[in-house]
Amino acid sequence: MTGSHRDRPPDDADLERAVELAPKYDRPGPRYTSYPPAPHFHEGIGSEEAADIYRSRGPDAVPLSLYLHLPFCEAMCTYCGCNVIVSRNKAIVDRYLEALLPEIDLASDLLSGGSRKVTQLHPGGGTPTYFPPAAMERLHHHLEDRFEFLPDAEIALEVDPCVTTPEHVETLARLGFRRISMGVQDFTPEVQEAVNRVQSVELTLDLVKDARAHGFTSVNVDLMYGLPHQKPASFQQTLDTVIERIAPDRVSLFGYAHVPWLKAHQRKIDEATLPGPEERLALFQTGVRSFVGAGYEFIGLDHFAKPDDELSIARAEGTLHRNFMGFHTHAGTDMIAFGITGIGDAQGVYLQNHAKLTAYEHDVAAGVLPIHRGYRLTAEDEVHGAIIQELMCNGRVGRTHLAPEGGDWRERFPAEAADLEPLVADGIVEVDEDGICLTPLGRLFVRNVSMVFDTHLRAREASGDGDGKPRYSRTV
Ligand code: SF4
Repeated sequence: MTGSHRDRPPDDADLERAVELAPKYDRPGPRYTSYPPAPHFHEGIGSEEAADIYRSRGPDAVPLSLYLHLPFCEAMCTYCGCNVIVSRNKAIVDRYLEALLPEIDLASDLLSGGSRKVTQLHPGGGTPTYFPPAAMERLHHHLEDRFEFLPDAEIALEVDPCVTTPEHVETLARLGFRRISMGVQDFTPEVQEAVNRVQSVELTLDLVKDARAHGFTSVNVDLMYGLPHQKPASFQQTLDTVIERIAPDRVSLFGYAHVPWLKAHQRKIDEATLPGPEERLALFQTGVRSFVGAGYEFIGLDHFAKPDDELSIARAEGTLHRNFMGFHTHAGTDMIAFGITGIGDAQGVYLQNHAKLTAYEHDVAAGVLPIHRGYRLTAEDEVHGAIIQELMCNGRVGRTHLAPEGGDWRERFPAEAADLEPLVADGIVEVDEDGICLTPLGRLFVRNVSMVFDTHLRAREASGDGDGKPRYSRTV
């Protein structure tokens, strides 16, 4: 297949060209943590379907990947895109556990009485360390009682340095957590004030040092571009601090998604202070240059990792995957989610819990899985989802997915092949009878390329459906 240069990260010429192409390709589009994306989930799938799916596999079936949604935060960052409940009253933790622990019991009973093996655990949020250390410990022991963890299970969590104490770090390390992910976004004071998240370099460094001293082996840092008042020069200082003083194993460099019609708190951001598409790309460019220059691998979309990190190795071997937790190396699991809004993925069905705490509590109290909506993949979804997964994770897609029965894949996907032609002309992808490969420039437009294979998006656009308020963030 074409595309021998696929592993080269975008260089300065690619980044300059991307700035030129930004106006043409900047449009709302999914990030493809699932295919189809969550807006396609519907209420035709609920608790009974979930229970049948959980029951249908025996104790030796594929391992489980567990996600816990712990939704609480002490204050709202104005850029936040997560499902969050802001409260300073920590009594809410006990109330939440009164539903979360029984939900875990319900699922465990249905999943072969808890004898399915767990290969991955990831509490996310919100701010998981909003929970006091004793509550984290209680929750973790409950999970260990109800499931069998593999000895090498990956146990990771997200923390907010502003609320994470040395007691948290000590407790989490003792419980077996080894990966930690923390938000930084931008250390520039003007930016931090504008997004209502003031977090000093020292506070962040102290947490990283403490985590490493307690045996955490992997540190991920989340940065964000496209925030109010962000400028490449000041962002560069943040990047230098992160690289030189934190030296994370992994970095996520997310683009801020400004969707105030979906996230009302984002209305507090003065839109006049937001960088435009070209400035956003210039900020991203600063990040790519800095991390690649410092020896990090450009994993894809907005992720970087040290060369010896599992993500870099998986990308080089073509075994990288992507789900609601982002890029990962644990393919072939059933993903079970707990807590409000949590999304699971098992046996070709997405299952999402209630978003409203009261509805979630009500279902758990009634002894049923608190599933609000979901989606069962069709055969066509499986094919298109696999192609998008390959593009997002490995930057190329070949015959195995495009033409498993032989022939030229373009005869099987004529509309997609036609839609790729302008992207070929712009140097974003290379195409031949064997497959499709992103160029280094194309790695900056991977969402646009993936969207070509999104039949749901195609149908929505063809029908003119929509209220003029995009459901997705912009691709640039
Ligand atoms: S700490 Fe994270 S989850 Fe909480 S409001 Fe800020 S960005 Fe959102």
